[in-house]
Amino acid sequence: MRDYVKLTERDNVAVVTHDTPKGTEIMPGLELLDDIPQAHKFALADIPKDGEIIRYGVVLGYALDPIKRGAWINEHMLRLPVSPSVDNLPYGTNIKPKEALPEAPRKTFMGYRNPDGFYAGTRNILGIQTTVQCVQGVLDVAVAKIKNEILPKYPNVDDVVAVNHAYGCGVAIKAPFAKFPIRALRNIAKHPNFGGQLMVVSLGCEKLTVDMLVDPENNTPENVIVLQECKGYNAMIEAIMSMAERKLKVLNQRKREELPLSDLLVGMQCGGSDAFSGVSANPSAGYAADMLVQAGATVMFSEVTEVRDGVQFIAERCVNEEVRDKLAEEMRWYDNYLDAGEVDRSANPTPGNKKGGLSNIVEKAMGSIAKSGTSPIIEVLSPAERPTKHGMIYAATPASDMVCGPCQLASGIGLQVFMTGRGTPYGLAAAPVIKVCSRNEMKEQWPDVIDISAGAVVTGEKTIQEVGTDLFNFILDVASGTKKPYTEQYGLHNFLCIFNPAPIT
Ligand code: CA
Repeated sequence: MRDYVKLTERDNVAVVTHDTPKGTEIMPGLELLDDIPQAHKFALADIPKDGEIIRYGVVLGYALDPIKRGAWINEHMLRLPVSPSVDNLPYGTNIKPKEALPEAPRKTFMGYRNPDGFYAGTRNILGIQTTVQCVQGVLDVAVAKIKNEILPKYPNVDDVVAVNHAYGCGVAIKAPFAKFPIRALRNIAKHPNFGGQLMVVSLGCEKLTVDMLVDPENNTPENVIVLQECKGYNAMIEAIMSMAERKLKVLNQRKREELPLSDLLVGMQCGGSDAFSGVSANPSAGYAADMLVQAGATVMFSEVTEVRDGVQFIAERCVNEEVRDKLAEEMRWYDNYLDAGEVDRSANPTPGNKKGGLSNIVEKAMGSIAKSGTSPIIEVLSPAERPTKHGMIYAATPASDMVCGPCQLASGIGLQVFMTGRGTPYGLAAAPVIKVCSRNEMKEQWPDVIDISAGAVVTGEKTIQEVGTDLFNFILDVASGTKKPYTEQYGLHNFLCIFNPAPIT
């Protein structure tokens, strides 16, 4: 078992794999000058004031004061470098050919083909859309009754999910940025796990009218219930239940079939990261992503503030100028968005990230990008857009787990792979979420929440390739419905925070 991890030759810091006391000779001739908490950095050489602090082969920041060889380096000891410019980013200079990606051991999965020809479903769910949060109380009561009284009659349907959200009224619906939440809700209604069965519950006086949520041909009494048109509470429940039963009858006919991986869309996200995330969990996810792409699947990664400081490494993998330009445009939009809120990217990381050894957003970004693997980036999406190509996609979203998740759902992910260092029980109702942790202690703490531990990569007992291959196989098992991640087994479902950068009135 190794005691520290140094990532590249150029690095002048390493991280300890466990809490290590002052005075330990961590390597021949290098004695630690401080107690170093697990995952935190120590200096491999004397670093002068304003000297570069290098990890992942990139400059994380500049020393505020001289740092002695063997000393602890924490978040208070370095100055953030200037963010890389998004003007004149490279493209196409780091394109890995498909033959160079790891060969996928499996090329098919068992999924639900969809009538619209978009990606396949991994679950068979009745999704009930809402135009406004005012309907949630009634809908939640109705959904509980549907699950109890009707769903058992339709064994091929996995679940009934109310797509509740806080958007829909009291908002500036004509504001230019209202397109973000509206697009998200429109696309969630088309989610592959809902099998093309549309059901909408609206109130009747809200700003987000049904015609803004669905295409005109779908805005019919067959699909839409307006609570204000129902005569009293019992009529509302009755209307919802009878429409649900009609939809469940259709969904119950859906069957899994063997499909090529080109029908699979997987989302990657990380949250509660630590300094091991970029050593173990995210590179293992990146390896699985490379295998998925090699076999024809589509994988998306997101979280603008967590890639912003490594944007040049994404740009060089963009297949053409158009993709690179869209990447730059998304970064610029977010820079301006943060600017308008009078903050910058240093508003990320979180206290937990810092406790986990991440000094700043540059270090977090380098770890975060690792989950995208090494394949070419063929498309860049605005928040909540649906992909049009197959391969590795960058889908711009906020980095907040609770906001990124719904954005990726709207983009149509069949499942999400979620890497964590500190631990989070987050989950989505409409698509399974697989948890991968970065260190063994996390798996020991939450053995029944974390599906896969990449901790053995930190200690040197397993390789990224081994954990990445295990994860690839688990992804296909979950997509095929033969395995369920813990969050799905327990029904841990977070409220959908729809990204709304437009004003609330
Ligand atoms: Ca996140």
